[in-house]
This record gives sequence, C-alpha cells and structure tokens, in this order.
Amino acid sequence: MALHWKILIGMGLGLFFGFGMTFVPNGVELVNDWVQPFGTIFVKLLKLIAIPLILASLIKGISDLNDITKFKTIGLRTFLTYMVTTVVAIIIGLTLVNLMNPGDGISDETVQNLTEAYAGSSGVGDKISEANRQMKGGPLQFLVDMIPDNAFKALSNNGLMLQVIFFTILFAISMLLIGEKAAQPLKSFFDALNDVVLKMVDLIMLSAPYAVFALLASVVVNSTNPELLVALLRYASVLLMGLGLMIVFYLLVVTFMVKKNPFWFLKNISPAQLLAFSTSSSAATLPVTMERVEEHLGVDKEVASFVLPVGATVNMDGTSVYQAVAAVFITQALGFEITFANQLTIVLTALLASIGAAAVPSAGMVMLVIVLESIGFPSDKLAVGLALIFAIDRPLDMCRTVVNVTGDATVSLLVAKALGKLGDPNVKNWDDHYDEVK
Ligand code: ASP
Repeated sequence: MALHWKILIGMGLGLFFGFGMTFVPNGVELVNDWVQPFGTIFVKLLKLIAIPLILASLIKGISDLNDITKFKTIGLRTFLTYMVTTVVAIIIGLTLVNLMNPGDGISDETVQNLTEAYAGSSGVGDKISEANRQMKGGPLQFLVDMIPDNAFKALSNNGLMLQVIFFTILFAISMLLIGEKAAQPLKSFFDALNDVVLKMVDLIMLSAPYAVFALLASVVVNSTNPELLVALLRYASVLLMGLGLMIVFYLLVVTFMVKKNPFWFLKNISPAQLLAFSTSSSAATLPVTMERVEEHLGVDKEVASFVLPVGATVNMDGTSVYQAVAAVFITQALGFEITFANQLTIVLTALLASIGAAAVPSAGMVMLVIVLESIGFPSDKLAVGLALIFAIDRPLDMCRTVVNVTGDATVSLLVAKALGKLGDPNVKNWDDHYDEVK
C-alpha cells in the first residue's frame, strides 16, 4: 500500500480513537501518558536529522555546481518567487475576509465568553511577550540575526535554521573556490553523509503511520470546548477557503508553468503534506519534504537543497493567508475600524512577518500580534483579540502548515523548471541494499 494511504489511515484511526477516549473516564490522561509520547518521539526524530540533512545536501548541491553564478540565479529566482506567492496569499486572504466579513457575526456574548476563557491564559500572554521581544530590534535586525557568530552554536539549534544555511553556503562556496582536487575529501564525506541522512528519513518514515495516529489522538483529546468552536465557524471557513484557493493556485502553477500533471504532484508530495498537518511544523516536516521533492518529483539537489530549507522559514503562504484573515476578523469582531491604508500595511507587515515567523506550531500567532500592532490596534486589547481565535488555532495551524509546505514544494519545482534542473524521479526505498547487510 502506498505510504500516503497508510498515513491517512493512521490519521483517521487517531481521530476516531481520540474522540472515543474523550468519553472514557480518565481517557484524556491515558492518551497523554501512553499515546502522545510516540508522536513526540517521531517529531523529535524528524528534527534530529534536519540540520545534518541541510548541511550535507546544501554542501553537495552547491559543490556539484561548476560555476558560482548559477547559484546566484537560483537564489534570486527563489526569493522573487517566494515574494510573489506570499503576496498572492495575503491578497487572497484580504479579499475573502473583506467580502465575507466573518467578524460581524460574532455577538458580544461570544466575545465575552472567549475573553473570559482565554485572554488571561498563559498561551495568549506568551505570544504577546514573544512578539514584543521580536519587535525590539531595528528594521535590519533580521539580517543581523541571520549571521551566526559561532558555527557550532548555530548547528546545535534547530531554531537557527537561517544561520545554518548562511554558514553552509559560505562553506560550500569556499569549497568550490579552493578547486576540485583540494576539496575532494570533503566532497566525498558530505556526499556520503547526504546519502546516509536520506536513508535515515526512509527509516523514520516507516513509523509515520503509527506516529500520526498518536499525534492526532492527542490533538483531539486536548482540544477545547466545542461550543466555542461553533461560534468561530465563519472565521474558520473563510480561512479554510483562502487556504483551499492557495492549493488551487499551486496546482495551476504546476499545470501551466511547470507543465506537469497536478495529480502526479499531489500524489508524490502528499506524505509531506500529511505530516505537515499532523505535526503543525514545517521545520519538522522539512526532511520529508526534501526527500519527496528530490527523489519523487525529480528536482535536482542544487535547487531543492537551497529552496526548501530557506522556504521552511522564509516562505509561509498559509501563515500569510491567516495573518490577513485573522487580523481583519479581530478588528471586525471588536468594532475597530480599519482603512484601506491599514489593509496595505497588513500586506507589507504580513509579508515581513511570514518571513520572520519560525516554522514551528503557532508561530503565526506571534506574528499576528506584530501585524495588529502595525495597524494601530490598541495594545490593551491585544489579549482579547488573540483570545477570540485561540480556541480554534491548533486545527487551523495544522491546515496552514500544509499550505506552507505545499508552497515550498511548488516553488522548488518552478525554480528547477526555469533553470533546466527538473529531471526524472529517482526513488530510493528504505530496503535498497537491505539484503547485502542482513
Ligand atoms: N505552524 C506553521 C509552520 O510551521 C507556522 C504557523 O503558521 O504558525 O509552518
């Protein structure tokens, strides 16, 4: 059976099991104590190999190029395409939320209930203080943050992905510059490391169907009051519609610009999408996205190894749709008038915010605070604003992460196509060479 079916079955059973356990006495504790750890272990395994994979594959990718100018073209194209897809996402979000006005349907009573339930919660408080911390730096702070002052510190922290990428690119370009002969030992080392880490992805993925069962069961048992969720249905549907339109947009790009069958694309990328949904983290999904894009979609390593890790942090189209919809929804629900100029500000700050957002669960909410502050939303109302959407944030985070990951994969196809780097898929199974070592 194809992997995506196994994962889907795992997810379905997990949902079902989690729902059933909410009716069992102590069911929530049972799931949290005995099931959730398996999901956590899986996510940790994926994160474990992210940095070695970026390091090895980016070094291999760049050192296989025989001239550096090619790398400049890949870089420039990637950034421009990422900007375009993000702006498309924000415009889709803003258009939908302005047409459908989901905030107008929220009664004062619901606002009060949600405020009482969440405004004082540590979840909301943490997001606001994290946003304030991030806003302290000047406008160029993100550039300063991208440069590591200690390579080993950067390599030992998954949150410092852009620093790792910076160091790795500098390293790989220097390898090119010392000449092929001198660089040969390093090149062989990183080539082998790259193969080994990709094999680790295959091995870890063997447990994916069971892990998603655990992840989804624990999301279900820990989800909050269903009545409050119903009040937010209109907001959720506008956001889901925006996310759906983004997927349609990617499929059109794949069909007309990459000239590939959209169903072929979906089928091959789906394990990464399903993991994005289950883990709510593009960073945890990154090793699988890279494996799918290189081996199953046929994108050359020099493109995939740069476009995807950069995209995981810089390009978050799902998060961008969310910033636009959620920001306007909150202002509508709390009766805060916004002008057309405010909406343009949202486009700009949501663009920067999605670049700055970390690829981890609910990072988008931190960035939402920054977007709201940029349009002059009163800071004493911020906690109330976030409280409005807090109850339903996790499931929506799962959905926007799927879009984030699909966007990165689409852009890597697009860049590869434009540069003649889209070849035939070359799938390596987990048990290749198994007989030799058994
Ligand atoms: N969870 C998202 C991601 O990792 C970020 C967000 O929108 O909160 O891609």
